[in-house]
Amino acid sequence: MSAYNLLNDTEKAAVEDAIAQAELRTSGEIRVHIESSCSEDVLDHAAFIFAELKMHKTRDRNGVLIYVSADDRKLAIIGDTGIHEKVHDQFWKEVRDLMLDHFKRGAIAEGLCAGIALSGEKLRTYFPYQSDDVDELSNEISFGA
Ligand code: CA
Ligand code: CA
Repeated sequence: MSAYNLLNDTEKAAVEDAIAQAELRTSGEIRVHIESSCSEDVLDHAAFIFAELKMHKTRDRNGVLIYVSADDRKLAIIGDTGIHEKVHDQFWKEVRDLMLDHFKRGAIAEGLCAGIALSGEKLRTYFPYQSDDVDELSNEISFGA
């Protein structure tokens, strides 16, 4: 499956809206990247994509990447150093498990939206929304090969 076809247009819009809503609660910046398949360790690959998307370019180093590969349904969530200093792996495990519950029954968009919403809730503790907030990283889903 091509990455682009994992979600239909309505679902893409719903995911991007979920990111916009989540970012009203936190200064953290959430991105979703979808590829068709991932042949290497999914966390390593997500870290590579994080750098490729220049997600380090946030003031507070609080970017979060949700990476999904369409064919093998691999999933990774990684946060930048600003977040990593404050939270443990458990922080993301809960989000990942919630998303995987949805994925297992084929509800990809729902899973992404739920994971994004929960990430926003969790991030606000450490990175509350600021009144002078800037949308530092695009809310649009990015697609790879
Ligand atoms: Ca922002
Ligand atoms: Ca954003």
